Amino acid sequence: MSEYTKPLPEPTTLTQPFWDGVKQHKLLAQKCASCGKLRHTPKPLCPNCLSQEFTWANLSGQGQVYSYTVMHRSPATSFDGDLPYVVALVELKEGVRMISNLVGCTPQQVRIGMSVKVVYEDVTKEASIFKFAPA
Ligand code: ZN
Repeated sequence: MSEYTKPLPEPTTLTQPFWDGVKQHKLLAQKCASCGKLRHTPKPLCPNCLSQEFTWANLSGQGQVYSYTVMHRSPATSFDGDLPYVVALVELKEGVRMISNLVGCTPQQVRIGMSVKVVYEDVTKEASIFKFAPA
């Protein structure tokens, strides 16, 4: 594995289960134990009913591009080799939205509403990240 120079996840107490899931190639979202609503990003209480009780639900990883942007300037030199690349807001089948890179297609091929699926990259021995690719 070559050296990974891009930023790595920095889990907090609240986000650790999410990143542990990614490490196991599972996409998780908090599920309110009171009203059942899914949410992402992880929050200490439900924005719908304010309950602090929740479980973690395993998502399908399937969704559609809700919106996206094409990066032509990188936020850090470690991304220079990827330019231009796509950052997408994906609406998962279960209703929550997540942001990550869309890989496996050119920026010209991306369309709002296109079907995508989660993919995982084990970028270091300790850390994995998730991205999306055409389904
Ligand atoms: Zn709730």
